[in-house]
Amino acid sequence: MTTQVINPATEEVVGTVPSTSVAETDAAIARAHAAWPSWRAVAPADRARLLRRFAEAVDGDIERLARLEVANSGHTIGNARWEAGNVRDVLQYYSAAPERLFGKQIPVAGGINLTFAEPLGVVGVIVPWNFPMPIAGWGFAPALAAGNTVVLKPAELTPLTALRLAELAREAGIPEDVFQVIPGKGSVVGERFVTHPDVRKVVFTGSTEVGKRIMAGCADQVKRVTLELGGNNANVVFADADLERAAATAPYAVFDNAGQDCCARSRILVQRSVYDKFMALLEPAVSGVLVDDPGKDGTEMGPLISGDHLEKVRSYVDESTPVAFRGNAPGGPGFWFPPTVVAPVGPDHRVVTDEVFGPVVAVLPFDDEADAVRLANDTEYGLSGSIWTRDIERAIRVSRGVAAGNLSVNSHSSVRYSTPFGGFKQSGLGRELGPDALDAFTDTKNVFVAIEEL
Ligand code: NAP
Ligand code: MG
Repeated sequence: MTTQVINPATEEVVGTVPSTSVAETDAAIARAHAAWPSWRAVAPADRARLLRRFAEAVDGDIERLARLEVANSGHTIGNARWEAGNVRDVLQYYSAAPERLFGKQIPVAGGINLTFAEPLGVVGVIVPWNFPMPIAGWGFAPALAAGNTVVLKPAELTPLTALRLAELAREAGIPEDVFQVIPGKGSVVGERFVTHPDVRKVVFTGSTEVGKRIMAGCADQVKRVTLELGGNNANVVFADADLERAAATAPYAVFDNAGQDCCARSRILVQRSVYDKFMALLEPAVSGVLVDDPGKDGTEMGPLISGDHLEKVRSYVDESTPVAFRGNAPGGPGFWFPPTVVAPVGPDHRVVTDEVFGPVVAVLPFDDEADAVRLANDTEYGLSGSIWTRDIERAIRVSRGVAAGNLSVNSHSSVRYSTPFGGFKQSGLGRELGPDALDAFTDTKNVFVAIEEL
């Protein structure tokens, strides 16, 4: 069985990939399981060297990986280059880990006590279509560094860059069975990662709905699981903020990657006293977003991922949805949807309460700091958010008040490979990236050694 891969900007077929069966998935897991003892036994400095060589191979392939992502996912070429560079950087960052997987020596009576950070075994990584390269790397790089072997399932819609990354790993000298990319359906390959007893950990990024099923399935074997799920993030703009900068950057905080970003700031909350002024500044900023052929340098937003997803996003902007203004989008083939600003709208409209995952943003007014925090937290999600104010005390108070894992003050940045990333509430479980991600790919072993007193 095979699956056709479609270019979302043109609707043309760009490739055909195998659709892995359950039996083939089992065989891949068996190979990963068999490869584990020798991979964990590779000397720390050698494992580090292999990961650095993998990073160098990715670095040498950035343009090809980026072009592949443009064709497969409709990402802008600028973003796609950043994404390929992010895989290199994450590999580089975690290449330092094998030699730094420290345990502890804990003072006890009657001997010495040591802890070891032991790898888990085979790790299954399930990747969504919105950021095929970075999300893959956040899983496989620390997993491999900690001494696990990896089976990775890309999203059915976007397998091409993950398959290329597996080739680059082999070119770098990482044994074939240590890192395998197996394209196929979530309900087949992904599900098998959950049910197969030799997969000891599942790393899942995707919808909250599927994430809950994965968590429930993993409970059966007390399988370790990391979940990165949806978001419905607030961009909170106070009256004392640099309004020009807040308005100029707000479109990119939600329309980047055509809004298909779990960190998209899809609810802009603006203090009532500056609401009209902010909207007047936002309108030209939105019409200035360059939506065009994603392969062209300078394009700022491309198409949505698929016809189905376009229909889903479109369903949020119907007769009941008050549109304040919109940006542009090309006509013709491709799954295009223009940047869309919804206002005035109540907090209970589904365009506000749901994760739209498209280039749609709702703007709502608030009265004071307490009202802003209440509105920002009026969601089951808790992934990211931004706070715009010149008052540092308020910035800290609101940052502490918003129940989300990744907040930024006077900026919209959520992701740095050296800092932890993950969600509160139904946005996820566990953290990726940063210095502590290795904890999610190891179990602590405690060893006591008795020493007899003379
Ligand atoms: P999804 O169904 O959760 O898919 C994510 C990944 O999980 C894909 O690789 C998918 O495989 C796989 N999968 C699906 N069902 C599975 C199962 N039963 N067991 C194991 N793996 C399974 O997400 P989606 O359908 O792509 O998108 C739906 C919505 O989820 C979006 O509109 C958005 O709201 C949200 N989403 C959030 C993120 C995020 O970064 N947090 C990312 C993507 C989507 P297939 O490729 O075969 O489907
Ligand atoms: Mg799905």
